[in-house]
Amino acid sequence: MFCSYQVIHAGIYYGPTSLKTKLCIRGKHLLYELCSAQDIPHRRTKKWIIAQNAQQMAELELLHTFTKSIDVPTHFLTRREIEEQEPDVRADAGVLESPTTGIIDSHAYMAYLEGSLDERGGEEILHTVVTDIEPLAGSQEGDRIPGYSITTQSRDGAGGQDTITAETVINSAGLGAVDVSNMLLPPERHRKPYFAKGSYFSYAASHPKPKTLLYPAPTPGLGGLGTHLTLDMAGRVRFGPDVEWIDDPTDLAPNPARLEAAVPVIQTYLPGVRRDALDLDYCGIRPKLGRTSGTYGKDGKGFADFYIKEEAGFPGFVNLLGIESPGLTASLAIAEMVDDLLYGRNASISE
Ligand SMILES: Cc1cc2nc3c(=O)[nH]c(=O)nc-3n(C[C@H](O)[C@H](O)[C@H](O)COP(=O)(O)OP(=O)(O)OC[C@H]3O[C@@H](n4cnc5c(N)ncnc54)[C@H](O)[C@@H]3O)c2cc1C
Repeated sequence: MFCSYQVIHAGIYYGPTSLKTKLCIRGKHLLYELCSAQDIPHRRTKKWIIAQNAQQMAELELLHTFTKSIDVPTHFLTRREIEEQEPDVRADAGVLESPTTGIIDSHAYMAYLEGSLDERGGEEILHTVVTDIEPLAGSQEGDRIPGYSITTQSRDGAGGQDTITAETVINSAGLGAVDVSNMLLPPERHRKPYFAKGSYFSYAASHPKPKTLLYPAPTPGLGGLGTHLTLDMAGRVRFGPDVEWIDDPTDLAPNPARLEAAVPVIQTYLPGVRRDALDLDYCGIRPKLGRTSGTYGKDGKGFADFYIKEEAGFPGFVNLLGIESPGLTASLAIAEMVDDLLYGRNASISE
């Protein structure tokens, strides 16, 4: 079954000045507020980042120093706290705790947003693919209107082709966003999409059963955060996602080789995990703008930020590219930023 619980990230992995840092931290606060106000299931589980040796501990020290500079709380745990709180966890060198990390029922969140759109008179057109976008005849550089003509096609082809016109277009097509951008921007501004698949692994045993999200210490240059342990609202354990570069954005088939590769990683921080209870679960695919890292590391080498821009020469067309994790956490802050780009209403966000 597809799991609907995702992590509300604290915002600690993305460097000092990136959009990911700014929008994740702002988005996290907005999301917790919204969840509380609208009864969207969520839980402040906390998260442990675990070091097994001196080198990994040095990574955690750096991370801790950094989180202080961006005002996101983290703290090291004592050996006693580690053993008392999570007796099954192996953390030979130490644990850095992030108290503002949590989980959210992302399906309930989407249902809330859908209802909110409907209430405001919005309309959804489902099972329909954008196949072309062109500036409307008569629009010139610097114009805010007359906007764009968007050609659509029903996904199964049965409904034929249609055209919509719009003053503004927000391209948030996820895995298809680069293709949509390439439909409008001139060839010299075309990009190539990259895809990083992530496999999740289910766990069918009732022991060990940690109560905290568990992440290995960050590995510089890795596309994701390392095969980690997350929980759902009922406390059920799952692992993942890992990182596998693929060419086909529809390739969601779980690959047994990924499970074999994940087992030793999981065993480093949870040695009592039962191998026979681990199984392949499902996959997701991250939209990437290169074979880049989703996290900043020491010096930002290879790190890719979110790309959120009103494209030069295309007023009213906002591109949201490479919106990988922490895109869900950042989503409400991304919306504020887009609103600001188009209408200048939240000056503090995009300055
Ligand atoms: C494996 C994995 C785990 C993640 N875990 C987390 C997490 O724990 N916490 C977190 O904060 N974030 C997480 N994320 C990131 C988060 O899920 C994304 O950032 C977020 O879903 C991006 O939202 P979006 O609306 O930009 O794109 P999407 O959710 O991908 O939506 C894009 C939509 O556009 C549609 N589309 C594409 N092309 C076209 C076209 N040509 N015409 C019409 N429609 C089109 C697609 O069908 C889709 O419905 C994870 C992502 C992955 C892949």
